[in-house]
Amino acid sequence: MRFGTTLIPTLKETPVEARVESHRLMLRAGLIRQLGAGIYTWLPLGLRVLRKVEAIVREEMDAAGAQEILMPAVQPAELWQESGRWQKYGPELLRFQDRGGRDFCFGPTHEEVVTDLVRRELRSYRDLPANFYQIQTKFRDEIRPRFGIMRGREFLMKDAYSFDLDEASLDRSYRGMVDAYHRIFGRCGLRFRAVEADTGAIGGAFSHEFHVLAESGEDVIASCDGCGYAANLEKAESVVSSAIAPHGQVGSMRQVDTPGMKTMEEVAAFLGCALTGMVKSLVVEGEGRALQLLLRGDHELNLVKAANALGVGSVQLADPVRAAELSGVPVGSMGPVGARLPLLADRCLEGLSGWVAGANADGRHLLDVVWGRDCSKPPWADLHNVVAGDLCPRCQVSPLRLDRGIEVGHVFKLGDKYTRAMKVTVQDADGREKIPIMGCYGIGVSRIVAAAIEQNHDDNGIVWPLALAPFAVEILLVNPKDEESVGVAETLEKGLRQVGIEVLMDDRDERLGVKFKDADLLGLPFRVVVGGRSLKEGAVEVQRRGQPEKERIAVENGVTHLIARVRATDGVDNFKNLPL
Ligand code: ATP
Ligand code: MG
Repeated sequence: MRFGTTLIPTLKETPVEARVESHRLMLRAGLIRQLGAGIYTWLPLGLRVLRKVEAIVREEMDAAGAQEILMPAVQPAELWQESGRWQKYGPELLRFQDRGGRDFCFGPTHEEVVTDLVRRELRSYRDLPANFYQIQTKFRDEIRPRFGIMRGREFLMKDAYSFDLDEASLDRSYRGMVDAYHRIFGRCGLRFRAVEADTGAIGGAFSHEFHVLAESGEDVIASCDGCGYAANLEKAESVVSSAIAPHGQVGSMRQVDTPGMKTMEEVAAFLGCALTGMVKSLVVEGEGRALQLLLRGDHELNLVKAANALGVGSVQLADPVRAAELSGVPVGSMGPVGARLPLLADRCLEGLSGWVAGANADGRHLLDVVWGRDCSKPPWADLHNVVAGDLCPRCQVSPLRLDRGIEVGHVFKLGDKYTRAMKVTVQDADGREKIPIMGCYGIGVSRIVAAAIEQNHDDNGIVWPLALAPFAVEILLVNPKDEESVGVAETLEKGLRQVGIEVLMDDRDERLGVKFKDADLLGLPFRVVVGGRSLKEGAVEVQRRGQPEKERIAVENGVTHLIARVRATDGVDNFKNLPL
């Protein structure tokens, strides 16, 4: 492909609206352009990368025995009403009507459609296990679309759905997908980690997320270098070191003045006690219930854990005015002793004795509170975010570390949630009707492109892993008007293309500096400079993107040299994944 006749609108300036490196570089390298909030056009180079990811995903899904289908993006509301999600899904679901006034949505996911297909087409245990997948455009009306295609509203997803007759068979399907995901992300040249994930209100089920490790990731994952435990923040637990009394000997409970103090830090500084010896109160609401949650002064509440503990879909933190209204106490003085709201306490408070908390009176706190003596014991639950350095809950030896990650894949055991709601049955070997159980398996195909750039770039631009690069080789013509150079470049291009190595030729009549800058920005794995003094001496100059060394190769050896280099690279940068 020729640079001069291809739409590769590179930008010199850094777009101000882009806040992460992958977004900046995708715009600057001319891979994508924005049409509206969270909606993008893929330009020729970007599309080539997207297709590479798709091809890897497709190969590995096919190899794992999944069957490719393509379901409609537009889905009738009736199916969503059957599963109960028409009401539950909320504003992320883009809904509209056809000319006849019938309700539809643009699919954010396809459980209903695939379940409907299976209920119509599969009859017998002989048809199972079955796994159907598609690579298809989704729409989610995300509240905060951002970071370019990383969190778009329209995006490309691979979604697969397995159907099995029993748990053991679902286990095998699930494991097959987990293995395929390891191969997919490995082949994409990504450094990633599979982590245990929260399953939300469905409960009891089983789920893993795959995260690409990157500073700009929106998610936090906890992991143990000792035993390999890894979980996302909603799921991660930790062993909390046995609690100590905040200040020496525990005396009897007493009230003290803390005039005008609203934050835990102010109170701690004023009383001279550690945050770890304080109990803070937070009011949450969910599905018509309000509760006062108790956490250690230095800990953060995890709302997903709180919702799970209460057995509801989600909970919200009440703002100070609402919290005061519900608890009858101004924020800053709230505490568990004599509380009006029902209490739920973080498990790590259980061992704490002689703690400090609000006295439920403005500007007053209690010292030396003891469970059972001064305050009845509340129910306990895991409510706080783990902190780096907490002990691993599995091996109980090594400290947990926290990393940021970009979720690129999610596998989930759904059980019979959809098949039961939508009345799917197949006959088992004895002729009895049985409800199949499902797994679902998503990959953010378009998000992978951004995640790959987050992990593979330098100050000058993208550094593509070979597997995802839009082209393996860029041939940079120093002077596209010089016939000898063009002849050499075309011979190289032809020789490489014959063995399937893709080439972009920069044949533009541009300043040399611009062409070099663009080559760095586009980040193709190998650059061959044809022209100038080297060519006069019968050589071309070959450089690997991201490495400083330039090699002079005799023109006649150019093709064989490059084939060898590309082949030697193929697969090498594909195994950066960390052990599960
Ligand atoms: P997130 O927590 O990032 O919103 P999710 O849990 O909603 O993701 P799933 O429903 O599991 O995502 O979708 C499967 C995959 O699709 C995700 O792992 C992610 O890689 C990708 N994905 C989800 N939402 C988006 C989006 N708005 N833009 C791009 N990719 C997305
Ligand atoms: Mg989401």
